[in-house]
Amino acid sequence: MGTATDANAMLRILFSRLGTPYVGPPTAFSFNVPTRKASGVMSTEKAGGRVEKAVVQNVVYLGGMCARCEGMGSVSDFDLTALYDDSKSLANGALTVPGYSMDGWYGRLFEGMGLPMDKPIATFTKKQLETMLYAEPTKIKVEGINLTFEGIIPKIQKSMLSKDVEAMQPHVRRFVESAITFQACPECEGTRLSPEARSSRIQGKNIADLCEMQISDLAEWVREFDEPSVAPLLKGLRHLLDSFAEIGLGYLSLDRPAGTLSGGEAQRTKMIRHLGSSLTDVTYVFDEPTIGLHPHDIERMNQLLLQLRDKGNTVLVVEHKPETIAIADHVVDLGPGAGTAGGNVCFEGSVEGLRGATPSPAATSMTGPRSGNQPASRPASFRCVAPPRTTCRTWTSTFRSACSAW
Ligand SMILES: [Zn+2]
Repeated sequence: MGTATDANAMLRILFSRLGTPYVGPPTAFSFNVPTRKASGVMSTEKAGGRVEKAVVQNVVYLGGMCARCEGMGSVSDFDLTALYDDSKSLANGALTVPGYSMDGWYGRLFEGMGLPMDKPIATFTKKQLETMLYAEPTKIKVEGINLTFEGIIPKIQKSMLSKDVEAMQPHVRRFVESAITFQACPECEGTRLSPEARSSRIQGKNIADLCEMQISDLAEWVREFDEPSVAPLLKGLRHLLDSFAEIGLGYLSLDRPAGTLSGGEAQRTKMIRHLGSSLTDVTYVFDEPTIGLHPHDIERMNQLLLQLRDKGNTVLVVEHKPETIAIADHVVDLGPGAGTAGGNVCFEGSVEGLRGATPSPAATSMTGPRSGNQPASRPASFRCVAPPRTTCRTWTSTFRSACSAW
């Protein structure tokens, strides 16, 4: 969340300026930047193509990344009993890791590394077990072909753990869930940050404390914090955090992974991000952004949509809620029977026109029911808030699929 918007970047600047003790520039608070050390010749380009050279020794470029978990916040632990059956030999299918078939190249690779294929794994020497599980990538020649052998565990870490669990094939996912446990990194306690980054504090709080606060509480903290030297930065941060609260996302925290947001939450987060962007003439498509919103938050979200429009953008919203349809500059009413049966434009024009139109589901939702036998299907009304110069066209299923791709 904090990374998806500019909030984290602003907090990093804040800590690099005001945090005590002083730790370093904003990158020293970023969990994406590792600490690097360098020795050797450093060249600096000067005016007129002159290059100044200096010998440096052990210069440290401090990053905020926790070295133990490499900024992931969690470490993985392997349950070895789930990787192999030690009473069996490799040739007899001791390995239970998906994809490790001894009939294929893996078998030849293990053999090429000198592992005894016919001995039960329980009788392996310590060195053999070490090779099988943890070997660094090693180039070997198998049947005249150059191949690289890598221990099972680093291989799994690269091929399976770098993927999103949700995106895995079911059998791979079952394996990962049974063989690997994830726990908060003991070094950084899941904050992803180096000890230096966590040592720097403002009013008793470090940057990780602020990121795990509920956004509405953090907004309060920032509001009470008065420091003229960084006033413009605080103003920007305050405005950003208030926008979160305004569209009903004040209960989230900045360290919440963007992948765990619901569809509605993610769309609204994007809205905030784009409000901060200086791009204009962009077409935004939102698919039912009001989903799950409290009525008074819908009003606030409407304001954000209008702000996006007023910056010179075109905003297309697929919506059923009359409160949101009401602020449209142009309405396209599709239905009844949306989806595969849809595509009939029932109405196109202004909101006023929609109110007076022959009862269609969307028109009814604007004016209240006119009769008891309305179609059971929900109205699909494509509403468009567009700057006057933009013309609205009719959108069909292509538009729908564009929305779901968001
Ligand atoms: Zn860590």
